[in-house]
Amino acid sequence: MCIKVLVVDDELDMQQLIRSQFRRKIKKKEYDFSFASSGSGALDILEARPEQDIILLDINMPGMSGLELLEHIKERQLVLKTIMVTAYENMSNIRAAMNGGAFDFVTKPIDFTDLVITIQKAYAELSQLREGKAALIQLPLTEKELAETDQKAKHLAELDQLKSRFFTNISHEFRTPLTVIRGMTHQLLENPLRWAHRGGPLILRNTDNLLNLVNQILELRKLESGNLQLDLVQGDLIFYTRYLTESFHSMAASKQISLHFESTTEQLMMDFDPEKLMRVISNLLSNAIKFTPEEGRIKVSISVQDSEAYPQPSAVLNVSDTGIGIPEEELPKIFDRFYQADSSDTREGEGTGIGLALSKELVQLMGGSIQVHSTAGAGSNFQILLPITRTGSPIDIEQEKPLAPPVLPVAKSDVEENILAPAPPGELPRLLIVEDNSDVVEYLSAVLEDKYALLLARDGQEGIEIALDQIPDLIITDVMMPRKDGYEVCEILKSDERSSHIPVVMLTAKADHDSKIHGLRKGADAYLPKPFDKEELFVRLEQLLKLRQKIQARYAHGQLSALTPRDEFQQEDLFIQKIRQAVEEHLSDPEFHVPELCRYIGMSRSSLHRKVSALTGDSTTMLMRRIRVEKAYQLLKETDYTIAEIGYMVGFGDPRYFNRTFGKVYGHSPGEVRKQ
Ligand code: ADP
Repeated sequence: MCIKVLVVDDELDMQQLIRSQFRRKIKKKEYDFSFASSGSGALDILEARPEQDIILLDINMPGMSGLELLEHIKERQLVLKTIMVTAYENMSNIRAAMNGGAFDFVTKPIDFTDLVITIQKAYAELSQLREGKAALIQLPLTEKELAETDQKAKHLAELDQLKSRFFTNISHEFRTPLTVIRGMTHQLLENPLRWAHRGGPLILRNTDNLLNLVNQILELRKLESGNLQLDLVQGDLIFYTRYLTESFHSMAASKQISLHFESTTEQLMMDFDPEKLMRVISNLLSNAIKFTPEEGRIKVSISVQDSEAYPQPSAVLNVSDTGIGIPEEELPKIFDRFYQADSSDTREGEGTGIGLALSKELVQLMGGSIQVHSTAGAGSNFQILLPITRTGSPIDIEQEKPLAPPVLPVAKSDVEENILAPAPPGELPRLLIVEDNSDVVEYLSAVLEDKYALLLARDGQEGIEIALDQIPDLIITDVMMPRKDGYEVCEILKSDERSSHIPVVMLTAKADHDSKIHGLRKGADAYLPKPFDKEELFVRLEQLLKLRQKIQARYAHGQLSALTPRDEFQQEDLFIQKIRQAVEEHLSDPEFHVPELCRYIGMSRSSLHRKVSALTGDSTTMLMRRIRVEKAYQLLKETDYTIAEIGYMVGFGDPRYFNRTFGKVYGHSPGEVRKQ
């Protein structure tokens, strides 16, 4: 077999590097490389020698980019596989390439072992594809074969979709802890004394999360290539499982979930691999906690199955919860790699969909099996059967320090109240943070608490409720959250009269262009991808507050009645018009005050007050007076009514009070205006 690879890269070093790395393989005729330094050069080679197997394609090239070349290759319908070469952080391009039909990607600097494995994988798939095609040409397929091919194609398409979702998820999973780590490190560098206590544990927890994620991915890969060894020891399974369960107590307690351990026997000496079992149980328990609402129950139990109906005595380990459960049609798929039963932006908790796939493989490696029983809405039960054997070297698992679970349970932030840092009202702008990840909340409050009075909502639904109740000055919202996602939060608040004026900043780990456009379409005023820069966040927030001053200037000066319509202020103008209309309809009624206006508009006194003062910088009472006085000004100019009459006509019972208010608004008395 000689694999023909076309390398397309504008960096000329690449040619040298490949030739030296593959020297032996080229000599043995296992590989045959051609090189092109641009997209058009590559097309020329393909024209002359279309029998290439693999194209190794750099995404970033001047002239025709790798993505464009990929399109051209697709159009030519060549049977080959493309592997993209890219910088790791270039996730959106990677996704675009995968969606555009690339087989896989490798990152720069190139790990050549990884490259060889990737090329071989691609070649294996290509050979299958070619065999399939050849068969297709040689023999007409039977109906059964056709159905099978169809099924296979469907499966491949599904796998492709899962893979692409995996990339989005994995980038989310990396970006969130990175935001916290990066941000908190900056805080620490700026003021070590102030932040060491709060920042240290936060950074540690998030690095552990990242490490765990990387380990899971590597382990899955090792399993795939058959390189994961089993390290069996003989120990007490009951003690070890109880110990593992206990380390999840504080995580469960942070959601007021009760976590119990039960066993039918005191001790069960048998073979198991402590590290692999720890991974499996940690996965099941962190899932159970993640997918069980507050005040739920989780039970871990062990029993022994020793009846004759079974070929071998087995330990039966159950992890059951009273959580959200899994719909029946999803059950067969949840052990698939990258699969998540709920892939929406509102799903509970974060994740990558590799936990259960890994658990299943690890259990199988230990000679056991794993099953799930679950009903949507009524909780889940994961059951593991492990054959009882006693061949490993006995250890005293109580004495030898057992392995700690990899995920330090995510502590909920200390902040239990919705109000994070109550600041004296009126002094600091009020900012609502809508975010379900406590560590991100902790970090955001650390950087914002000196500048803003903070409010907190832990999911989208709560965010909407608090926003409508409190009418904050600014909102920062995450995108992926339980109950309502960030897009919905934005859409609902922007279309509600009470909150439409509040600027919304979306913070998200979905850094791709489409998400940004989507966010902005839903009315977000700014969109910051994680990990974001603190200064950038400050600037955005300040800009948005400045925009508010611009709006205030619009309604504070000049005649409210003579506003030139502007698209950007359309909604707010309508709101001010509505108040004006209400007051004008009750112009001569001196009893039409704020409570009557609230009833007319259909808003509570405090919501109306907050909205009016955000828009105009005035209180509602003052705004109503301004509208009355404006009308008086017009009447003074256009009619012959006496000043006292006009005062009564616009709802002032007392002429002296009318004079004073008029003077305050216009800087002249009504008499002076009349004389002009
Ligand atoms: P992740 O948790 O990273 O999404 P897993 O492979 O661990 O990935 O789980 C796959 C999917 O199975 C989850 O996304 C979830 O939809 C479902 N799932 C797993 N455990 C539970 C559980 N205890 N209750 C409800 N759903 C669960």
